[in-house]
Amino acid sequence: MDDSIARLTEEALRFRDAREWARFHTRKDLALGLAIEAGELGELFLWRTEAEVDAALAEPRYRERVREELADVALFLLYLAHRTGTDLAAAVREKLVKNDAKYPVEKARGTARKYDEL
Ligand SMILES: [Mg+2]
Repeated sequence: MDDSIARLTEEALRFRDAREWARFHTRKDLALGLAIEAGELGELFLWRTEAEVDAALAEPRYRERVREELADVALFLLYLAHRTGTDLAAAVREKLVKNDAKYPVEKARGTARKYDEL
């Protein structure tokens, strides 16, 4: 199966169109949905230490919840990229190039400092 972003977007759009939901997919609502789903994902990690997250991820039910929230985030991201005419793969690659310039390895290695504090 082809899991490319284009193929996943096609599948998501087929799902949306079969339900005639395109009219609800305004850019504003897709952006809000993305933020809400990211919040639901964050809630699974809230107040847990890394060790606690490790332990929780050993439980199939928790791992499945993380998987589902990641998928919810990805679906809203795909829909929003489509609705804004954004080539998501190209945008991600371009951002990595920009980040590479902002965070040169020799300055950024091993530090979590922001680029303007390097
Ligand atoms: Mg969700």
